[in-house]
Amino acid sequence: MSTRRVSRLMILVLLLAAILSACAPATEAPAAATEPPVAATEEPAAATEAPAATEAPVEITDTELNVLCTPQEQWCQGMKQEFEAKYGITVNYVRMSAGEALARLQAEKDNPQFDIWWGGPIDSFVAAKGEGLLEAYDSPNYGNLTDPVKMKDVDNQWVGIYVGTLGFATNTDWLAANPGVEAPTSWDDLLKPEFTGQVMVAHPSSSGTSYTALATVLQIRGEEAGWEYLKQYDAQMAQYTKSGAAPAKFVGQGEAAVAIVFSHDIVNEIENNKLPLVLTFPEEGTGYEIGGMALVKGGKNTQAAKLWFDWALTPEAQALGPVYAAYQAPTVTGVELSHPELLEVNLIDYDFIWAGEHKTEFVDKFTNEIAGAENLKE
Ligand code: PLP
Repeated sequence: MSTRRVSRLMILVLLLAAILSACAPATEAPAAATEPPVAATEEPAAATEAPAATEAPVEITDTELNVLCTPQEQWCQGMKQEFEAKYGITVNYVRMSAGEALARLQAEKDNPQFDIWWGGPIDSFVAAKGEGLLEAYDSPNYGNLTDPVKMKDVDNQWVGIYVGTLGFATNTDWLAANPGVEAPTSWDDLLKPEFTGQVMVAHPSSSGTSYTALATVLQIRGEEAGWEYLKQYDAQMAQYTKSGAAPAKFVGQGEAAVAIVFSHDIVNEIENNKLPLVLTFPEEGTGYEIGGMALVKGGKNTQAAKLWFDWALTPEAQALGPVYAAYQAPTVTGVELSHPELLEVNLIDYDFIWAGEHKTEFVDKFTNEIAGAENLKE
């Protein structure tokens, strides 16, 4: 073999070795991706981005993060404090119901003020994606999801961070004062004469909870019968509220008999606020939400937003829910459910994509043909 051939062979061998060693971390990617990101387990003074499994950590220069926060205030506040303590980045958040949040993102499309949207039923995220309001992100922590097919957008524009089921909350004092009346256990029960003027739910234009109820009815009954039902349901209403969780509080305070609310909010009112409520579910099936998260397209603090995004997909962050009175089920592995019984009910096969794609149309129809959105109770 000539010297030239030998040296060419050696160069080839060296190249191969270099390529192999460069590839080595990639083979470890799946393991790293299913664990909390490295930065999430450290105590960084100056934040370090939770690294993609095959990339070197990026130093984060963002000093603040603007969060559009849709879950209840207490959880928003708790997550803000936890994130600030962990990463040393200031979190500014505004709490807005899902419908209001979507309207805000639409209004700010050309000059976005938020970096990340955290919480609220995924239907609104699907609608936001359709309007080009979200930014795709391939988080290294998607591997933590229990059901990546259901819990994540195919284009990585949104991801699920919790799951919650719709229930009915009935005031037990009102039941005691109305002998013979039972707490509702079906959607039809809500139409009974004894509940006329006694039902409370949020308005679907402002509230994701209420939109989940509307889309549930349409899916259970079909569109024609569903809209007919919604007209009768409207006749039963005491008042529509702005926020989805509020009816449980108002009904607990005796302002009406029955609230349609996510069951974890009912549990919160019963366990923490000691309101006289009983939780029931519609036996023929109830709808449920995947609570979503997404980067806002054009948000300024992208690195900090990705850091929050990755963190929110760790067991550590999702285990914080019950600490702040949020009893939704987690979407990642390694977190104990605080209230598994809330999922052990008859759930419909809720079609989030269909519900999200029709959100504007259905909300407009409800607002124009059934009940306007003026004077919503706060
Ligand atoms: N608060 C809690 C606890 C929720 O689970 C949800 C739904 O994701 C919301 C608030 C959403 O609020 P709204 O129905 O006001 O949009």
